[in-house]
Amino acid sequence: MQNIEKSKNKKTAVVVGAGLSGSVAARILAENGYNVTVYEKRDAPGGNAYDYVDENGILVQKYGPHIFHTSDKSVFDFLSRFTDWFPYNHKVKGNINGKLVPIPFNLTSLHELFNKTRADEIENVLLSEVGAEKKVPVLSLKDHKNPAVRELAKYVYDNVFYKYTLKQWGFKPEELGGFVTARVPVSVSYKDGYFSDEYQFQPTSGFTSMIINMLSHENITVKTETDALGHIMISDGKIYLDGEIYSSPVIYTGRLDEFFNFELGKLDFRSLDFRSETYKTDSYQPAAVVNYNTSEDYTRISEFKKFTMEQNAAPKDITVIIKEYPKPCEDNDVPYYPVPVKAAEDKYLLYKEKADKIPNLYLTGRLALYKYVNMDKAVAMAAELVEDL
Ligand code: FAD
Ligand code: UDP
Repeated sequence: MQNIEKSKNKKTAVVVGAGLSGSVAARILAENGYNVTVYEKRDAPGGNAYDYVDENGILVQKYGPHIFHTSDKSVFDFLSRFTDWFPYNHKVKGNINGKLVPIPFNLTSLHELFNKTRADEIENVLLSEVGAEKKVPVLSLKDHKNPAVRELAKYVYDNVFYKYTLKQWGFKPEELGGFVTARVPVSVSYKDGYFSDEYQFQPTSGFTSMIINMLSHENITVKTETDALGHIMISDGKIYLDGEIYSSPVIYTGRLDEFFNFELGKLDFRSLDFRSETYKTDSYQPAAVVNYNTSEDYTRISEFKKFTMEQNAAPKDITVIIKEYPKPCEDNDVPYYPVPVKAAEDKYLLYKEKADKIPNLYLTGRLALYKYVNMDKAVAMAAELVEDL
């Protein structure tokens, strides 16, 4: 009886979505005395970072390759409460007209794709005009004052970015926010490695396990296979939960257009088809991820066992790959990427205005904020939001 009374008096909160954003929010609220109910449409927590060990013993990431990297120590420290890590330096190769070279495009790529004399000349110009160890977005190099830098920028634009970006987004690089291609800058260095953050680790038992640990708290109840929008209704700017006015915090990490029943039209997302293949061989390709920059309808192939080889966790003689085929996000597709073009962002702002009028509705995450963010940023944003409550 006492327990029931105690829980009745507790503050409550609802979290929509048990991806990384919702799970971080739920955990912090729970630790601050809230009784939190988390609704998750899918049959397991994890959101797009969901992974599982398949029948071959390989840790497979169901919604595409997820590599953790951050320079934000507070994010790393927070997540470290829920997982051990192993160091992992992610390497990507690009298939450029049949040759496999390091991506981001670097000095090794230059020497593998240009003849020695021209590669030496361009390297010298890059070192003097851009600087050793510098990383620069391709779009900013295209208008460089030096013709050799412009020549290189045009080559990289045409062969690394143009086709890949058209496949991925349906737009040319310059039609998207400049930050999209700036995520993979040209690197005036011989060092390989897709990321340059201070902390580059993978969770020892995978992201799902980390997220389940985060949600394991006496104040958190997770309802999987439950669409929150079957329980939540908006009327006169108020939230109703199961028919009753609900004035405690609702942290929403789903699509904002869906929350408002698409009344202002659909927000533009890109979706993906993942096609998985299993091979009876130890290794399928020479890097964990190979991008297809100049050919194929898919953007990249990920070979999952290479993500865990550093901790010796992969079986021999069998390997699993996935190919990613981008496509527009139709009604039953998963919305993976908000499309960073002005018309879509303007429409998002109209939805945001409506959301801002509901005092106990809080938005976070890649879908609800319509922001192309990595996991570390998703964690930081969710933590900041609920710490302010
Ligand atoms: P999501 O993971 O999308 O979670 C949202 C959750 O809400 C989902 O589980 C969904 O089912 C649930 N939901 C939505 N609506 C409802 C509803 N009405 N009721 C109940 N539940 C609902 N980041 C990195 O840092 N490194 C990477 O290498 C990386 N690779 C990526 C590769 C791909 C292909 C993609 C798509 C993303 C990648 N990311 C990567 C980004 C990363 O996935 C996100 O930053 C992070 O997972 C965002 O988490 P989230 O909780 O905001 O969203
Ligand atoms: N990109 C590209 N070629 C590459 C790698 C990236 O054109 O070889 C562009 C493309 O537009 C892509 C963006 O840079 O969507 C960001 O790449 P990233 O690898 O960060 O994409 P994500 O892993 O988020 O899908």
